Parts: sequence; C-alpha cells; structure tokens
Amino acid sequence: EPKTKDAANSRDLASLAYQHTLFSMVPQSEVQSDGPCIYVEGKGVHVTDHEGRQLLDMMSSTSRANSLGYGNEEIARAMYEQALRMHYSGTTRFLSEPTVTLAAKIAELAPGRLSKVCFVSGGSEATETALKLARQYQQNTGKPRAFKVISRWNAYHGSTLGALSVTDWLNVRDIPDPRAVGHSFVANPMRYRNPYGMSEEDYADHCASHLERQIQFEGPDLVAAFIAEPIMQANGVQIPTKSYLQKVREICTRYGVLLVIDEVITGFGRTGNWFASEHFGIEPDIMTMAKAMSAGYAPLGAVMTRDEIADALPVFRHVHTFSGHAVACAAANAVIAIKEREGLIPRAAKIGAEFGANLAEAVAHLPIVGDVRGLGLWHAVDFTRDKQTRAVFTDDTVKAVVRRMRDLGVVVSAIGSALEIAPPLIVGKEHLDRTVAVCAQAITEVAKERGLA
Ligand code: PLP
Repeated sequence: EPKTKDAANSRDLASLAYQHTLFSMVPQSEVQSDGPCIYVEGKGVHVTDHEGRQLLDMMSSTSRANSLGYGNEEIARAMYEQALRMHYSGTTRFLSEPTVTLAAKIAELAPGRLSKVCFVSGGSEATETALKLARQYQQNTGKPRAFKVISRWNAYHGSTLGALSVTDWLNVRDIPDPRAVGHSFVANPMRYRNPYGMSEEDYADHCASHLERQIQFEGPDLVAAFIAEPIMQANGVQIPTKSYLQKVREICTRYGVLLVIDEVITGFGRTGNWFASEHFGIEPDIMTMAKAMSAGYAPLGAVMTRDEIADALPVFRHVHTFSGHAVACAAANAVIAIKEREGLIPRAAKIGAEFGANLAEAVAHLPIVGDVRGLGLWHAVDFTRDKQTRAVFTDDTVKAVVRRMRDLGVVVSAIGSALEIAPPLIVGKEHLDRTVAVCAQAITEVAKERGLA
C-alpha cells in the first residue's frame, strides 16, 4: 500500500494511464516494462514526473517543441489575456488581432519573398495544407495536370494520411499503402554512412541527380511539388551539404516543380537561425512550420508562400476550424518577442557550437561512437558496432544509452542509429556541461557492460 497521499496519487495516475491511454509509437511491451511517464510539473529546463523525479529535459519535450522551457509566465499571461479578450474568432475572413500581427511578424522573419501565411494547428496539418496549396497553384497556372509529389527516403512529414503519403520514416510506410497515387521517393543525403560508401559530397550530388531523374521519369508536367526537410531528423540531425539544397532549388525551378521546405522541427531557432533554409541560402516556394513556433504552449502551425503563388489562386480551397486560433497566436507572438529580446537565436548558434565541440571531445573516441554532429542546439551522436564498416547496431544498444542517461537524470532521445539532443534555447551552460558528462558516462558504461569496450 502506498505510504503517502502523493504516492497514492502517482499510482492512481499511472493506473488510469494504463487503462485509458492508447499509447502511440511506443511498443506495448515498453509501456508495461517502463511504465507511462507522466510529467506533473515543469520549470525552466527541468520537469518533475509523477513519481517525484526531477529530470533535465534536453529534448524540449519528446517532440522538440518546448523551445523556451517550462512555466514561462510571460507566455502564459499573453494567452490568458487573449482568452479573456477574444479567444477565437472563427475561420475564413474572420481573423483576430494576434493572428494578423503574427502573420506579419513571421513574414518579416522568413527567408526570401515568403510573405503570405495560412495558420493551422500543427505540423501534419501544415504538410496537408502545403500539398493542397501546391496542387491548386499548379492547376491554376501552367501545369493544370500536375498532381504528383516527390519526397525522400526516411522523410517524416506527419501522421495524417496525406502527410503519410510523403513520409517514409518511423516504419509507417505500410500504413498508407496503397498510398495516394502519384507519390514517389528519392534518396536523401546522409552524413557518416550511405548505401554506396560514397563521400558525403558525392552522395549529396547523387541524391540531387536522383531528384532530377525522378521528375523526368514521373513527367515534369505531372509533378506538382518536391517536399523536403532542410535538415532531416531521421538517424540524427542529417545536415546536407550546402550545394545539395542549392541544386535541388535549381532543379525544381527548371521543371516548374514547387519546392516545399518542411521547417516544422527546424524553424524558430533550433539550428541557430530563425529557419534552417537560411543556412543553405535557399528560398522555398512553400514553407511549413509548427512546434517551436508556439514553444509548445499551444497547438499551432503555419504554411507560407510568396505573393505570386497566393495571388494565382482565385480562392484557396482549404479550411480547418482552429486555423489561426487567437490564443495560440498570442502565445506565438510572445514566444517570438522573447526569442528576439533575449537574443536566444544567435545565442543558440554560439553555445550550440561550443556544446558540439565539447560533446565530440568527450565521446567521439569511445569505441561505439561513429560520428558526432549538429547545428545550433540540435545534436546527434551516431553509433556503430564497427568503426571500419560503420555498421549500425541492430539490437537495443542506442536505447540502452538513452535509458542510462535518463537514469542519471538527463532526458535525450534515440532516433534510429543515433542519439539526439535538442534542448530548449534557454538552456544554461551548466546543463550542457552536465549533459556532456552524463552522455560520456552512459556510453562508456553501456559499452563496457555489453563487452563492446
Ligand atoms: N514535419 C516534420 C519535419 C516533423 O518533425 C513533424 C513532427 O515531428 C511533422 C512534420 C508533423 O508534425 P505534427 O506532429 O505537429 O503533426
């Protein structure tokens, strides 16, 4: 029997969760063995779970959204005040004040000529909206038959059926099959290892050529869009070469294929710029965003495009009930104001580079580490069971390192062959230093236990 009221509450919460939660993306066996993890409180970069354990959250929550940490009073107040004043104004032509000012602010921050914003409630809806926008633009301009979309191996663009049709990652390929017709995939650049053992630059060139060949194969008049994340999350922070995205931009322009850049995970400061596209000097035709936009304080996403594309549509036939929700937009306005005022994005670039260097120094030489890479405050340690062949672990070694770090009080994530670290932008140097130390300790211990040292 639990000895205290708190212990009873925590047991009640866990058993309620077992009974009534349809857990997503986690095997039932893992829920049974590790239990549900219920966060009851958060402050800054720390969370407290239902068993009273305090953890350093170096993932900005499991979805990398909480870019300003927990318990931010300024954002909470902005939401509260907006809820009292005008919480929700409807859709179509009916806007609210923070929705209008947020769109204008994002237009100021976004790369190139991106100027028109359509709000949605998250990343998957942003993908759906982007694909529909691309198709409607093509139907109204020079390529009325274009309906096909090309995506990339390992891409993740969301969980709704349209977004799944351009998604490959997370073992979800079989769910949408047979997927919406006209969706195909090309190779994606990968750091450290690729299927042909090519150099990183050669493989990136190969991937860009693959896109061009696929457009020709599908028929340029039939291809509406190509969708890509500027930096892919799959297998840990896959930063492409600068020339890859520039070649992709040229190819899309040459064939009248709209370039949709998915900044859902990279946007709003994660990589040390407002948007990752800026690192590569490219202007997307359509850009999606969500997650860190509202720092996780409200469900919010958006799609942007330039005037010429928006103006080509007599009417954009697309609507979601909660598009541009006033309280969510008020949260995002506060989030952007804080990031600007505190200089958090240049700071992410600076402290992120130092953290990356410290992490590499502490772990790159360890026997099971193949590569350490990152940009801004987004980093990955890629593991291998053989430094010569760069072979991946097919057992649970990567997850074991993540579990060990959690036992030591630091939350990071396993992502395929790698471990990912994506702290809130307010993270302190002391938290980053602790993460480096805990990461090195966990890798060393797991390697030793498994006879891999
Ligand atoms: N696109 C990217 C690159 C993502 O990382 C995600 C979510 O992880 C999505 C789209 C889907 O966003 P959401 O989970 O908000 O629907």
